[in-house]
Amino acid sequence: RDVLGRWVTGVAVITTAWKDQVHGMTANAVMSVSLKPPLILVSIDEKASMLAKVRAANHFAVSILSSEQKALSLHFAGQRQRNETVAFDWFMGLPVIKNALAYIACKVYDAHPAGDHVLFLGEVEHLWARPGRPLTFYQGRYYALQDIEDKK
Ligand code: FAD
Repeated sequence: RDVLGRWVTGVAVITTAWKDQVHGMTANAVMSVSLKPPLILVSIDEKASMLAKVRAANHFAVSILSSEQKALSLHFAGQRQRNETVAFDWFMGLPVIKNALAYIACKVYDAHPAGDHVLFLGEVEHLWARPGRPLTFYQGRYYALQDIEDKK
């Protein structure tokens, strides 16, 4: 945990809907896998209630959080409840987090148990993104990005 915590990531909320019930879970184990076909991978703890919901719905969405959405990351990790109702949008039939930086809507392509997690490959069916700054996660803390490109 300490060593892999040095691998900086973005922060996403995985969402799905099953029997009219929306469920969300904060995740940073998200990666791109293939362009042809377009595949991404998410890793879900076998103890997470999200697991059965993704299996049942066979679809999930990934909302990439912006630097203004730390509170939502804490909320969907069960670490701090928001008092106000969480605002979801709908994207191609799937719930997503309102005002996120990007949405990826997937159909489950394959699932592989891996230790205490299940790896879900999602076939990307729809994508959307807007300009903005991402929320990042490093050694258990949240950061925004700092640009270190050489100025021309
Ligand atoms: P719960 O614990 O029941 O739900 C999580 C929270 O979301 C609860 O507070 C719940 O109230 C809220 N919530 C869910 N649905 C709704 C809704 N419809 N409306 C309002 N609130 C709702 N775990 C992984 O398995 N894989 C990862 O890649 C991963 N990455 C993480 C990255 C970060 C930065 C953090 C902080 C945590 C990460 N976790 C990851 C841990 C994971 O987010 C938590 O263990 C989470 O609580 C598991 O969610 P759950 O599906 O068991 O649902």
